[in-house]
Amino acid sequence: MELNESQKLKQVREELLAHATKHPLFGNVIKTKGNIVFGRGEDDAKILFIGEAPGFTENELGKPFVGRSGKLLGEWVKELGLDEKSYGVMNVVPIIPLDSEGKIRPPTPEEIQYFLPQTMQMVKTINPQVIVLLGKSAARGFGKESMKVGETTEYEGKKMYFIYHPAYYLRNGKKGFEDLVKLKKLLEEKDGKNNQTKLGNFQAF
Ligand code: URA
Repeated sequence: MELNESQKLKQVREELLAHATKHPLFGNVIKTKGNIVFGRGEDDAKILFIGEAPGFTENELGKPFVGRSGKLLGEWVKELGLDEKSYGVMNVVPIIPLDSEGKIRPPTPEEIQYFLPQTMQMVKTINPQVIVLLGKSAARGFGKESMKVGETTEYEGKKMYFIYHPAYYLRNGKKGFEDLVKLKKLLEEKDGKNNQTKLGNFQAF
């Protein structure tokens, strides 16, 4: 079931919306006639990609990773051989962070912290097998700032993988596929463990 419509995520979605409207960042939603951005993908995703905060396109459309970074993330999904039904996407901050000139900026540690209860509740409810942290802000939310690109760690019985944010690769004219190699291997290992054959739909989990 799509995250935005999921019954099991209804409570945390409502809590997040209520919480978000109480934060000064909500002024950006009003100013831009934008949206609080929840998540997209499956509510029982086996892989959960966690990013930073919505950009302008996401703010406008109300979904995470639907702009340029999202396009690259889509290429990563293909490169990893993932089935559409096997993954979900969310951010550690659900509102576009803007500076005084209306330009996008990274969320502050305080902003990440403020939304942490709902971030954690979403992760707990979706209960993925693998969490992929996209960049430093996502890592900060989980106390994993020291993770290196391509590194895997354990997090509450799940695998957690760190890769730079897609925007980093875009800025550097790269696709980032070289940093997906270890993730692909990790997913294949998981997949192979129970002698299932198809990587894409994660039958093996
Ligand atoms: N960057 C993010 O971190 N999240 C989005 O949803 C879009 C761009």
